[in-house]
Amino acid sequence: MIPIQFPKSLAFAALIAVATPLLAQAPAAPKPEDTEFWEPIPTVVTPGATFAAPPSDAIVLFDGKNLDQWVSNHDKSPAKWIVGDGILTVSKTEGNIETKRSFKNYQLHIEWRVPQNITGSGQARGNSGVFLASTGLGDAGYELQVLDSYNNKTYVNGMAGSIYKQAIPLANPGRKPGEWQTYDVVWTAPTFNSDGSLKSPAFATVFFNGVLVQNHFELQGETRYIGKPFYKAYDRAPIKLQAHGDKSEPLSFRNIWVRELN
Ligand code: MG
Repeated sequence: MIPIQFPKSLAFAALIAVATPLLAQAPAAPKPEDTEFWEPIPTVVTPGATFAAPPSDAIVLFDGKNLDQWVSNHDKSPAKWIVGDGILTVSKTEGNIETKRSFKNYQLHIEWRVPQNITGSGQARGNSGVFLASTGLGDAGYELQVLDSYNNKTYVNGMAGSIYKQAIPLANPGRKPGEWQTYDVVWTAPTFNSDGSLKSPAFATVFFNGVLVQNHFELQGETRYIGKPFYKAYDRAPIKLQAHGDKSEPLSFRNIWVRELN
């Protein structure tokens, strides 16, 4: 008897017929496209010409010309610090100033300069501060310390780049008095439940002269000069600059802008 010879193509077809249901049950092989997302499309932001210049979506808080975006902290009257030569200088007699606008989460750029002829020592040498959220009068809020820390010994959680009395800076990249310094901050505001209890804490990331000094630090509450920090519920808050009232020449600021974040 002559064995039946199936044509090879027929044998292959039979194999496919048997294998196809098995293949259908197996998970599909992953493809590169599976992990490619095409939306949401990020908003186009035109960056500043330099890192000091505001990107296209920034709110400019001080561009060297006027204090239109600022008020006095104590009575909300127009801010009266000194504007000249494109910079803003603390007025010893006018107290803290704060933004007219209130913010939640944001990215902030601000530059500051301790006078070259600064005198004093410790906390009385070029002291100011950026309150990342001003929650009331005076020094109420969350303070990112400003201080001459070039060659000036003080408690380390009170140095420039510290979250005052909460977080020691990870490095000391401070420049000499008379030189401009930069803070670039990412602030995540705390959130609160309807009964005022804390829902999620505040976080701060800070670059000081381009060097990371606070890395998503979780705050324990508002800045307290004496005692432990604790939270007090608020919704939105201005950004506040501190007039510390030292005897020596006051500090100056420039190029202040903020980008609101969700
Ligand atoms: Mg201070």
